[in-house]
Amino acid sequence: MLGFQRLREKMIREQLVARGVDDPAVLAAMNAVPRHLFVDEALQASAYEDHPLPIGFGQTISQPFVVGLMSQLLQAEKGMSVLEIGTGSGYQAAVLAELGLCVYSVERIRELHLRTARLLRNLKYGRVRLRVADGTLGWPEAGPFERIIVTAGGPVVPQPLVDQLADPGMLIIPVGQNKRSQTLTLVYKEDGHVTCEPYLNVSFVDLVGNHGW
Ligand code: SAH
Repeated sequence: MLGFQRLREKMIREQLVARGVDDPAVLAAMNAVPRHLFVDEALQASAYEDHPLPIGFGQTISQPFVVGLMSQLLQAEKGMSVLEIGTGSGYQAAVLAELGLCVYSVERIRELHLRTARLLRNLKYGRVRLRVADGTLGWPEAGPFERIIVTAGGPVVPQPLVDQLADPGMLIIPVGQNKRSQTLTLVYKEDGHVTCEPYLNVSFVDLVGNHGW
């Protein structure tokens, strides 16, 4: 079997660059994060494959392409503050931290939050700020955020997240009335105006909460 570093390079070539995720900062970040450590030991050999993987509690770590694409779409600059809804394994949060962003991440399942908090600390991503809460309500005291990324799919764009978005700012969220498929949607705030741009069909786990399912 190829070593993890070789698997990571292959993932970057075949799943990211070949499909248009070619922002050098995103590629460097995804090369730096040891994705195999964000899944159960028994699944480590599959960690760099082209699909999501289970992380327990009915949740998944997103497909590498989706993490790379969303990270690239954010067009974030070093030092910006970003709020992630759906910490899950912590992989997306670690990629955002590698991009030099000031990361806040919310998870609703306490056990996942605790496990991921320990992992991120051990991997030197301890500066990522985490909390257990319903992320559809955002993180009001820490906002406004220049970027918000939601990694679970809900029926609508939660209004509290739009309210906590800086101006200018951008939010990425999978939205749709169908639980199994959503439209990855880019929401821009500029000069007080909010516009939505549908981008791509995707399939995420449910966003569960006050402004979710
Ligand atoms: N970004 C994660 C993806 C995890 S899957 C990763 O890189 O691994 C999406 C996560 O969103 C799940 O862990 C799920 O529990 C969480 N989630 C769903 N609804 C939520 C809500 N309202 N607030 C916070 N987290 C939520």
